[in-house]
Amino acid sequence: MKKIVTLFIAAAAVLAALPAAACAQKTERTSYTITAEYNATDGVLTADCTVNYYNYGSQTENVEFNLYGNAYREGALYKPVSDELSQKTYYDGKSYGNMEITGVSGAESWSVGGEDENILDVKLEKAVDSGKCAEITISYKLTLAKANHRTGITQHTVNLGNFYPIACVRDGDGFYECAYYSDGDPFVSDCADYMVEITVPAGYTVAASGELLSGGRNTCSYKLENARDFAMVLSDEFESVSQSVDGTKVTYYYYDDESAQKKLDAAAESLAWFEETFGEYSYPCLSVVQTGFAAGGMEYPALTMINGGLAKEDAIYAIVHENAHQWWYAMAGSDQINCAWQDEGLAEYSALMFFESHPEYGYTRTGLVNSATKEYRAYFSVYNQIFGDADTTMTRHLKDFVSDYEYVNIAYNKGLIMFDALRTSIGDDRFIAGLKSYFAKADGKRAAPEDLISSFRDTGVDVDGFFESFIQGKIII
Ligand SMILES: [Zn+2]
Repeated sequence: MKKIVTLFIAAAAVLAALPAAACAQKTERTSYTITAEYNATDGVLTADCTVNYYNYGSQTENVEFNLYGNAYREGALYKPVSDELSQKTYYDGKSYGNMEITGVSGAESWSVGGEDENILDVKLEKAVDSGKCAEITISYKLTLAKANHRTGITQHTVNLGNFYPIACVRDGDGFYECAYYSDGDPFVSDCADYMVEITVPAGYTVAASGELLSGGRNTCSYKLENARDFAMVLSDEFESVSQSVDGTKVTYYYYDDESAQKKLDAAAESLAWFEETFGEYSYPCLSVVQTGFAAGGMEYPALTMINGGLAKEDAIYAIVHENAHQWWYAMAGSDQINCAWQDEGLAEYSALMFFESHPEYGYTRTGLVNSATKEYRAYFSVYNQIFGDADTTMTRHLKDFVSDYEYVNIAYNKGLIMFDALRTSIGDDRFIAGLKSYFAKADGKRAAPEDLISSFRDTGVDVDGFFESFIQGKIII
């Protein structure tokens, strides 16, 4: 009897140590296969998301997913929108949504929790070893708020940013749980492969992150590889203009725009210029989308949302800034929660460089630097008066920004001022060589500030003190 028990325990131990059921894996990346249907009558997206989870870390028995859609629910601890933008966002008064998980197959058990109902914790049927994968299917219902925001029904469109459960990144043994902070972009993810099929009501057009594989009357399917997110915008009012840039199809979708061709030109010219200056664009297409959005715009891999209420010049500026994020966020990723300056500062500065080399848009380097400096000094003076000592550190958690105003001044304006000062001190050649080398190093990955700093250091200049004085807030601007 004892012997049998021992054998049984031994067999159980062997079984427990076996990796999860084998799953097809072409690359060392997670893949998402999403089948979704949008019902315009009730504003609900119903979907199944099959995740072929690739384990970069040590053996794990569970996988965690961020449920950004739950931030829109009534009573959320973290609101998706700051008080400053709340009125512009909720154009029809208070409105709520949520992401309800209706089932998970291929799992032993699952639960929704985290700091703010923002995490789906899936216990796998079997532990998954490092370098192996596990497959689960998550069924969910995304109810959309009436909101000019990343996920929401706007007056003319339906924004489907962050519309599916996305695996939390895993550094060391822990999953990085992202609550929805209203200042900044609270998203950190690893690159993955996507296959997305969406069914929409008759008459709707889909603008998507991916390459269109097939488009029936109401159902379209898309593919996007090696991308850290996937987004769509739907509308029954969309018109579009397209052009090819070195084989990349750039499309501008709009519902009300008399200068659509100009917007497409700015999108195409900036894509070509960034590609030539920083490195190759990885995706087969780029969708630039006029939509309801309270801030200027929002970047996703191969798709950018542009606020439809902006004046022509501001819309063009937003298009160029969001396009720069294809390099600084989408391809070369970073920790947007703790180091927002890294992608926002670079996106702002890349936009400046594009406009500087295209004077026909009416911006100059001096003009843009002076305007950022003026705004930054005004912020500093006001915050110094209010708080006695304005916090000018740049690397800090999104929840540690007091307001949108402070966030914009630290991440965007101070970021732009810092990169301009760096360029002035090391010269154009080293500056561009540093950016090219940083992009090559960080493409497809998540880079730390040190990866950026070392790229400039490697051009043969000592930049450590320079970055330290800006990032730690010691320099007086
Ligand atoms: Zn940005």
